[in-house]
Amino acid sequence: MIKENIDNFKKKIPENVTLVAVSKTKPISDLQEAYDAGQRIFGENKVQEMVEKYDALPKDIQWHMIGHLQRNKVKYMAHFVDLIHGVDSLKTLDEINKQAAKHDRVIKCLLQASIADEDTKFGLAFDEIRSILESKVIADMKHISIVGLMGMATFTENEAQINSEFSSLKNFFDELKKSNPTLQILSMGMSGDYEIAIKNGSTMIRVGSSIFGHRNYIV
Ligand SMILES: *Cc1c(COP(=O)(O)O)cnc(C)c1O
Repeated sequence: MIKENIDNFKKKIPENVTLVAVSKTKPISDLQEAYDAGQRIFGENKVQEMVEKYDALPKDIQWHMIGHLQRNKVKYMAHFVDLIHGVDSLKTLDEINKQAAKHDRVIKCLLQASIADEDTKFGLAFDEIRSILESKVIADMKHISIVGLMGMATFTENEAQINSEFSSLKNFFDELKKSNPTLQILSMGMSGDYEIAIKNGSTMIRVGSSIFGHRNYIV
């Protein structure tokens, strides 16, 4: 089942779109099945769970932290995390930079933009993202690399609304890229809205339930 789902996704998404298999709450055996089907990028939203899975699984997996990040947890994943999707403050970037330095690594980060009209979703306003990218302190953080943006659309059936939220993020991303060539990744789209996200220029989709089935609890 998991293998079929992954094969199907690979067939239906364009080549320039990266699939992150969101495996939060799922057992190691499910991740192993996805791995055996060729999947190498996994997304988790809890640091401790990601560390346990990292320890148990093959070391050529790229681990993405997709959830809201608590600064005091960065140190537990700094030796292996590949990409952190949900960065929403300079303080967090500073902590990631410090912890990455201890391991002599550069950790890739995405700034999370607030595009949904729900206040439960974390993220930065567009002008806050601009000022982070322009700030002098960022230039001195040698152990992080801001490689793109991430956004989550409003949880709604209204496709026109989802479309306009993704479209606004894509336009902003394109505008930023002109002066920030290191921005390459636009992470948007999940099981329910990845098609709309891809239509709007997403380069990375984060898919959980459409690969692994429904989660037993909401996290
Ligand atoms: C859980 C989660 C996903 C995947 O959600 P599905 O609807 O199961 O595909 C994607 N992005 C984030 C940030 C998540 O927390």
